[in-house]
Amino acid sequence: MIGVGDMVLLEPLNEDSFIENLRKRFDHNEIYTYIGSVVISMNPYRSLPIFTPEKVEEYLPGLDEAYRSLRDQDKDQCILITGESGAGKTEASKLVMSYVAAVCGKGQEVNKVKEQLLQSNPVLEAFGNAKTVRNDNSSRFGKYMDIEFDFKGDPLGGVISNYLLEKSRVCKQPRGERNFHIFYQLLSGASGDTLTKLKLDRDFSKYNYLSLDSATVNGLDDAASFRTVRNAMQIVGFMEDEVQLVLELVAAVLKLGNIEFKPESRVNGFDESRVKDKNDLKEMCELLGIEQSVLERAFSYRTVEAKMEKVSTTLNVAQAQAKTRHKVMGVLDIYGFEIFEDNSFEQFIINYCNEKLQQIFIELTLREEQEEYVREGIEWTNIEYFNNAVICDLIENNQNGILAMLDEECLRPGTVTDDTFLDKLNTICAEHQHFESRLSKNSKFLTDHSLPHSCFRIQHYAGKVLYRVEGFVDKNNDLLYRDLSQAMYKATHSLMRQLFPEGNPAKVNLKRPPTAGFQFKASVGGLMKNLQTKNPNYIRCIKPNDKKAAHIFTDSLVCHQVRYLGLMENVRVRRAGYAFRQPYEPCLERYKMLCKQTWPHWRGPARDGVEVLLTDCSVPAEEFAYGRSKIFIRNPRTLFTLEERRRAC
Ligand code: ADP
Ligand code: MG
Repeated sequence: MIGVGDMVLLEPLNEDSFIENLRKRFDHNEIYTYIGSVVISMNPYRSLPIFTPEKVEEYLPGLDEAYRSLRDQDKDQCILITGESGAGKTEASKLVMSYVAAVCGKGQEVNKVKEQLLQSNPVLEAFGNAKTVRNDNSSRFGKYMDIEFDFKGDPLGGVISNYLLEKSRVCKQPRGERNFHIFYQLLSGASGDTLTKLKLDRDFSKYNYLSLDSATVNGLDDAASFRTVRNAMQIVGFMEDEVQLVLELVAAVLKLGNIEFKPESRVNGFDESRVKDKNDLKEMCELLGIEQSVLERAFSYRTVEAKMEKVSTTLNVAQAQAKTRHKVMGVLDIYGFEIFEDNSFEQFIINYCNEKLQQIFIELTLREEQEEYVREGIEWTNIEYFNNAVICDLIENNQNGILAMLDEECLRPGTVTDDTFLDKLNTICAEHQHFESRLSKNSKFLTDHSLPHSCFRIQHYAGKVLYRVEGFVDKNNDLLYRDLSQAMYKATHSLMRQLFPEGNPAKVNLKRPPTAGFQFKASVGGLMKNLQTKNPNYIRCIKPNDKKAAHIFTDSLVCHQVRYLGLMENVRVRRAGYAFRQPYEPCLERYKMLCKQTWPHWRGPARDGVEVLLTDCSVPAEEFAYGRSKIFIRNPRTLFTLEERRRAC
């Protein structure tokens, strides 16, 4: 063992020794270190020979614990993977899936399900990942996957939910970044024949939506990926004609990006926009089966930019739905905290989501844990930690939270601009803060005169972020004129029609969903509720350097992450804590067969029964503590020993 595998055992415990231990292990390819059951994962930025299924069990015993509790105690689990962009979250989520595939049943049906679970990744990544400055394969959407298991612990299928795809990327990418992988994959990897059918040219430079300065990425083979994606789509369950429909949409989006508009004066003096060069429009219409005049009309009766953005859509990947209650392991891989030079609405939403995840961590691991000890009368010294609830409130408060104010601005009649939104924010948040600061001395909305024009700054748990308000109102509105949905609904292309149900003239009451911020807040709220019903397991990912490079460990960078992830506090709580707890009755009921005095009936209080039982099983006394209503066990291994004996009975 290099260094200390579980930080709980680190002596002396301080920030320096903590970082030193991470570094020592990282230098020896030991990228996983524990805090009790919380996994700290360092991104090695190179493939290590530890990712074979057998090895996963050895290197990630935490996963093993989660799976066993699911199988043996019927406790739904969730695996929360957090860390900033490029820290290794998505790779970790894939590892979780390979692990599941490795440990459970081997039958033909089971193998098919496993294949489908694993192959959902390349499909989702093709449509939802892109090269950014932080990560060559950055997830631009949040992904939550419930893997369902039967009573034996074999996987039955998965349900995937997506969260807010960064769709503005389709039209415009920041400098040095790319559009979603699928565009490049299609152009590089499809056969000449396929491209001809899709009316596409292999040359990226022919398309406005494909930025030129970074079209190819070192280490990414778009052509090979395309074959992987095609194959994966088939395994996941797309029929051949459905794949074709999806690719046609991708092609149509590329065509759409090439359509340019020119102003044309009309007799009544108003300007109208007209399509400049009609060839791309014509081809787009052919791909989708829309009459050219219909689409042209829909385009020309509105302003140019407003509608361009909207034709980008989430592509729904097949979802296996199961109605009966099964055991569930949820895996959450969501976009990590982002601080760029220019931060817009997307970063604001992404960072809000990360605040919420941190809240869950605090609630479940730090706060709830400590409160329970106090409730149960177990000796306990409180541990201080930073609670980010104030930041969540600043963003999501129904009355004067930033999202509520943005919505209010978007709905207000009259001229609404990003700057009127900012004015409002400055006035109200400053007041709110004033009030808050009297209570907590923590102002998280930072107003000072050094702020650049049109910006506001938030002190997130992971650092200060400067947001530029340009585009906030537009992106939040997510407006799509009905003319356009109706035109799309007239397409003969069946997938296209499905994407614009509100364009159906028979359904005039069907509306596009409310603002993007509102939707996101609601879906994140739902996700948090869901997670709270499950037993959480954490993988806290850390990025060792800012260069996407192997072997480099930058102390200051790691230290910053260790701090904001609250890892030191985590160790302190954990050191004093107990991993497992259960009310006395069910505990006695489950293990009474292991002891002559408690089998088949124990007469007397369940608490005493449990004491007799544990003593009889020679569990060392320091391994447990007796609470008012529950027994607390320090190490989950103790429990597994009991489980094994029970099975052997
Ligand atoms: P995140 O999802 O946190 O943004 P990723 O999981 O996409 O980050 O990881 C970014 C990159 O880092 C990957 O594309 C890969 O090159 C590298 N990487 C991450 N985790 C590992 C790992 N366990 N082994 C090898 N390389 C990794
Ligand atoms: Mg990712």
